[in-house]
Amino acid sequence: MKPGREARRGTEAGNGGQTENEKCCGIVRGISSVKGWKRMKRRILWKLLLAAVFLCLAVPAPDVQAAEPVVIVIDPGHGGENRGGEVEGQFLEKEITLQTALSMKQTLEQFEGAEVYLTRTGDQELSLEQRAQIAKAYDADFLFSLHYNMSSSHNLYGSEVWTSAFGESFAAGQTFAGLQLAEMAGNGQYIRGAKTRLNSRGTDYYGVIRESRQLGIPCVIIEHCYMDHPVDSHQIDTSEEVSAMGVSDALAVAKYFRLKSPSLGLDYSGYSYAQIPAPQGTAAPDRTAPESVSLSVLSADPADGRAVLQLDARDSQSGILYYSWSLDGGMTWSMLMPFANLGSLTFTIEAPLVSGMPVLCRAYNGYDMYSECMAVIP
Ligand SMILES: [Zn+2]
Repeated sequence: MKPGREARRGTEAGNGGQTENEKCCGIVRGISSVKGWKRMKRRILWKLLLAAVFLCLAVPAPDVQAAEPVVIVIDPGHGGENRGGEVEGQFLEKEITLQTALSMKQTLEQFEGAEVYLTRTGDQELSLEQRAQIAKAYDADFLFSLHYNMSSSHNLYGSEVWTSAFGESFAAGQTFAGLQLAEMAGNGQYIRGAKTRLNSRGTDYYGVIRESRQLGIPCVIIEHCYMDHPVDSHQIDTSEEVSAMGVSDALAVAKYFRLKSPSLGLDYSGYSYAQIPAPQGTAAPDRTAPESVSLSVLSADPADGRAVLQLDARDSQSGILYYSWSLDGGMTWSMLMPFANLGSLTFTIEAPLVSGMPVLCRAYNGYDMYSECMAVIP
């Protein structure tokens, strides 16, 4: 919520529209006889009872209506001629971003105090500037740009959030990303992290984030998963699963703005989460490969064709996401295996093994840069 959007409307219940003078006059007029005294007692009791009922009804109202609504704008990525990523016969990014956005909106609208808009509701093409300007026109508190990923070598999988590298845009984006990625991890998605990216001019690389920041609106890009990798694609191969992605996005937003929904039975009004501070200067992306990687053979049985290896890998900036190995000197590689920034793990390879044979291993960081190491089968 923007500063200054706090409760402004106090209770206007006051004394029920009656002045102190009128009340006094009532008592003076009624006290002249016993009958009058009884009538007056009844009247006082009635007034007390009415006042009590009125207070009970009036007190909760300011809590419900006090804050101005949170304005959430959802941007379904791509549209029109800009189709986004495409896995032929399976996924078209511009379609599933819209479906996810509609589901996200429908869920968020069940929370109190949430006003939700989309940058596009059909198959329109919008520039990145237009998307940010639409958010501005709605006076958005946050712009969420929804996307689905692909990689050129079709080997990456996992979910990630991109944020601005600067100031309060970074702080809001990274704070939200923590909630979003926790939601996704809870759904069994592999997490690639919350990241920044800069262009050659040293400003935010992604246009929708850059333009939104210029307009003073926090903005993140949510890359839900990779459409072209089986580890991820099986999570969106039905329409229900795509919609579930939008529900999960909505819950992260509801937690961020501490919203509650009696109809969904969810109350995040007291939800506590880590607030990421604004950086000093630029929160620059990781530009270096993992700083330390080493591989050792724990056991090898050439007769059995089985070796157990230990990989130690570290990247203090963006962590280690994946590892892979090669038994043919780097001609071919195993698929990327999840490392989840464990520091160290053991894995088993099953292949024809010969003494003196090298095993190559690569460890990839959060920006998909790798460092290579080698061990020799004894
Ligand atoms: Zn996209």
